[in-house]
Amino acid sequence: MAGEDFGELLDAMADPLVACDGEERIVYLNFAAERLLGWKLEELAGQPFARLVPQRLHSFDGQSFLCYLLGRRRALSGRPVRVFLLRQDGPELEVEVTVGTTGAGSRERIAVVLRRSPEFPDYTDEPLERQSSAVRTRAAHPGSAGERAYQLVFENAPLGLFHFDITPTLLACNDCFVRIMGSSKRMLIGLNLLTLQDEAITACVRDALAGRHAYYEGDYHAVTSGKVTPVRAHFAPCVSADGEVQGGLGIVEDVTEQRSAEAERSRLLREAQEAIRVRDDFLTIASHELKTPLTPLSLRLASLERRLERREPVDPALLRHARQHLVRLAALINDLLDASRIEAGRLALHFEPTRLDGIVERALTGMDAERGQHRIDYSHPEEPVCIRGDPYRLDQVIANLLENALKYSPADSTVSVTLDVSGDFALLAVADEGIGIPRDQQEQLFERYFRARNVSVTSYGGLGLGLYISRDIVERHGGRIWVESEVGRGATFYVALPLLSAANPTPLEPRPSTGSSQQVH
Ligand code: ADP
Repeated sequence: MAGEDFGELLDAMADPLVACDGEERIVYLNFAAERLLGWKLEELAGQPFARLVPQRLHSFDGQSFLCYLLGRRRALSGRPVRVFLLRQDGPELEVEVTVGTTGAGSRERIAVVLRRSPEFPDYTDEPLERQSSAVRTRAAHPGSAGERAYQLVFENAPLGLFHFDITPTLLACNDCFVRIMGSSKRMLIGLNLLTLQDEAITACVRDALAGRHAYYEGDYHAVTSGKVTPVRAHFAPCVSADGEVQGGLGIVEDVTEQRSAEAERSRLLREAQEAIRVRDDFLTIASHELKTPLTPLSLRLASLERRLERREPVDPALLRHARQHLVRLAALINDLLDASRIEAGRLALHFEPTRLDGIVERALTGMDAERGQHRIDYSHPEEPVCIRGDPYRLDQVIANLLENALKYSPADSTVSVTLDVSGDFALLAVADEGIGIPRDQQEQLFERYFRARNVSVTSYGGLGLGLYISRDIVERHGGRIWVESEVGRGATFYVALPLLSAANPTPLEPRPSTGSSQQVH
């Protein structure tokens, strides 16, 4: 057949075809190829075929793109390979390629047939990744219904799937894999998996090529986008009917959600364990605290009983001590009840116009039995300090601050109580010369059951509820409670409450710290 006739025949072909000589220089481009690739024969004649190939696909295993495809003809047994080629105007185009050769020496010709589906829409400038997956599925695999079904499964699987050959070059992947990897399909196809920086992944690829299954779990760092995705992957060898490993496939799962669910579960578990620990600690302390007054109370009642039986005179001090222990017991139980009421939002307050100076004085008088060798200094303004509040609950707050000041300071030291007026607020300060509070724990002092480490390791009793209850009461009065303290140098607790005269009190700024630390609540 004459060369001209032959050219006409090729031009009449529906499938695009590019013919090259033995040195991979383009000698012919039929009409269909011109139309598909946007090049004219005159522009490409004599050019290397590599002009049509994106840079990253230029070399496979040290061979040119065409050499590589020719070398794999037997393994592919006529099946096309999906690749990207460059159009004349720049964008890449995904096509199926089959190659064949004729002649030898200077007459050698390489025929590259670019196969398109009859359903494939005419060339569009849209990059392939932006076309619908349905179009890509149909376009890329026009074969039998079985193949199409296979392709649909491959494309729509909710797991990332990819396939690589023996070199190992990534030949195909689905959209889910593209999403997980965070790189475009164009970047992924043609990628040599041994060039990946993650050695654990390359080891899995090698295992698959050696005929073994391999598993990977870790954070995949996308080289191109820098995206980090926690993944789990299974690598499996692809083995031909005669038992030869021809490549491998990978199934990749994005485990981001599982990871965060696991992290959330661990957090909840830690919190639950911490809550159990706090509860257990609290039960130990509470049992101890509740039992402490019972022993002396029981002893005193027994002694009282004996005296009465023997008709001996009863010492009033004995009765007073017994009563003190009962009062202590009642106070502990009341604290427990108040704390649960606060948690349930049911601690009732009864507000009325009242004199804070009067409440402080009553609280100080109530401390007479407990003050022991402590000195208590009290200073207050001449005028009455009137507020709107619940006298019973405010007495509870002040009594708690005084009890703590006495409890956490040495017997012969001084506790200073100062009542003052500052702007729209009445300001009460209770200062002691005691053990103080570690700075890093001051923030937690007003939390339920919290006890600073310098008291829990010593023999100071307590449930860690007084300040928690006090904060609730003070805040519900529109006031604030805070502390300034240094370990070993005492503590000063402040309570600021709005004066009765202040209809809308300007919020009180915390007092500037004077060298020692300060916590506001
Ligand atoms: P409790 O005294 O029964 O433990 P509180 O709620 O009254 O409970 O106090 C909580 C914690 O605050 C105490 O355990 C203690 O660590 C610390 N604290 C309170 N007042 C003082 C104080 N004046 N000096 C030192 N530490 C104090």
